[in-house]
Amino acid sequence: MSKAIGFLHHSREVPGERPLVERVGDWQPIQLHLPEERLQTQAMRCMDCGIPFCHQGRVLNGMSTGCPIHNLIPEWNDLVYRGLWHEAYQRLEKTNNFPEFTGLVCPAPCEASCTLGITSPPVTIKPIEYAIIEKAWAEGWVRPQLPPQRTGQKVAVIGSGPAGLACADQLNRVGHSVTVYERADRIGGLLMVGIPNMKLDKRIVQRRVDLLREAGITFVTNVEIGRDVGVDGLRDEYGAVVLCVGATRPRDLAIPGRHLSGIHWAMSFLQASTHHLLNGEPLPADHPLSAAGKDVIVIGGGDTGTDCVATALRHGCTSLTQLEIMTRPPDHRAADNPWPQWPRTYKLDYGQAEAQARFGQDPRAYGVMSTRFIGDERGRLRGLETVMVEQIGQNGRTEFYPIAGTEQERPAQLILLALGFLGPENPLLAQLGVNLDERHNIQAGEPDYATNVPGIFAAGDARRGQSLVVWAIREGRGAARAVDQFLMGETDLP
Ligand SMILES: Cc1cc2nc3c(=O)[nH]c(=O)nc-3n(C[C@H](O)[C@H](O)[C@H](O)COP(=O)(O)OP(=O)(O)OC[C@H]3O[C@@H](n4cnc5c(N)ncnc54)[C@H](O)[C@@H]3O)c2cc1C
Ligand code: SF4
Repeated sequence: MSKAIGFLHHSREVPGERPLVERVGDWQPIQLHLPEERLQTQAMRCMDCGIPFCHQGRVLNGMSTGCPIHNLIPEWNDLVYRGLWHEAYQRLEKTNNFPEFTGLVCPAPCEASCTLGITSPPVTIKPIEYAIIEKAWAEGWVRPQLPPQRTGQKVAVIGSGPAGLACADQLNRVGHSVTVYERADRIGGLLMVGIPNMKLDKRIVQRRVDLLREAGITFVTNVEIGRDVGVDGLRDEYGAVVLCVGATRPRDLAIPGRHLSGIHWAMSFLQASTHHLLNGEPLPADHPLSAAGKDVIVIGGGDTGTDCVATALRHGCTSLTQLEIMTRPPDHRAADNPWPQWPRTYKLDYGQAEAQARFGQDPRAYGVMSTRFIGDERGRLRGLETVMVEQIGQNGRTEFYPIAGTEQERPAQLILLALGFLGPENPLLAQLGVNLDERHNIQAGEPDYATNVPGIFAAGDARRGQSLVVWAIREGRGAARAVDQFLMGETDLP
């Protein structure tokens, strides 16, 4: 096993990122990578503790703790430390269909629950995961997983995000003929047109999609099931249907002035930007969704808001503010948020760090409520009226009370709404007669992922609500196992 006291001799080292001021001038990936030998030293810091929490994958206090797909982290850390990269890849491949995605964009709940983290900086897990898979691609170890024989069973997967792709990959491996339907013009879901290119290079997504196609999965783009193709025909043709349609219905902000031009959904902004890049040129500065030369306000302090901040900077915005109604999180774990829970602490994410480098300060303002969009006589957005709020938790609910005298008018010609998502937005679900849960997501349990309609399964954000790539992979794998069991009466899928 790994040198058990490696952590006493070596400090945590992370690969770091490209310089802030340089990278906001382009759309290239921000991540840097450590050479192999230094990663082997980092892997040596894993002490192979008796009860590792890093791979447990549970929800504690409403947040992810440990790796949701149960990556065999201590095992591949030991193999990397010993220079056995091929064996490390074989271990990683057992649990994760797409380590190159998680190795770049996962928030790494594994590291937050690393036992070493109780007293010292945790093991550098995520960069090691990425290094293993990139070495595997470079060495030609990543091959299409063709099944030994076909079962004669056909499965339709609706939606090509990480849940749909993981589900299709697993089902194809055991011999089912899988067709993935996608309403967009490209495969990948939010991997392709949600997460910006500087966080996840689209060539990396396409490389994996090409491999899945080589393995025998059929992809159909530009087809919205329920609109372009009826659900009845689909059910006749396929033995099972898996709904991996995501949860992209955005939460609105119904305050006066909502009709003004210049107020947009965060996803429309991000998608327009990525679509133009994929088609070979950045969004033109005179496009209504461009932030170029504008005072931009992003309402919503989450990850989608952060991606809007980073994208607006690259468009060349004049000023940038990100508003968050909640109070600023503490710098260190609060007493009710102990290890191994996900730490709810203040972090300067990549977009805010870039904005700070560009404008001299963190763009986020906490404890701020938006009260009115302000327009000019031609119906164009001119600004936003806000007030500071006091946050009070009462009877398990959080309530916000305006603080008199803190009203403020902020200039803005572009406002982006990044207030979270309210479940799937699909007419398809009503057509199928699929039940929704109280949060408007598709009702289907674990581990059977079955909806109330026989033969129809659901996985990913559509079932769980807007979440993480790693959870979508877990759900896709779980649904594949359930479908295999449904079709064959037994399953060997993990
Ligand atoms: C802006 C943004 C940034 C994010 N950044 C991160 C990050 O850094 N790290 C991370 O771990 N997670 C991140 N996430 C979350 C992560 O992307 C999602 O949790 C994940 O993509 C969900 O996967 P999914 O397969 O369930 O759904 P999706 O990726 O949403 O894919 C669903 C697909 O279904 C298609 N579809 C829907 N209805 C139909 C239909 N009727 N017919 C055909 N196709 C249909 C959609 O077009 C879409 O392509 C981010 C999310 C957003 C919005
Ligand atoms: S998928 Fe995420 S949680 Fe799992 S090992 Fe990789 S970085 Fe950690």
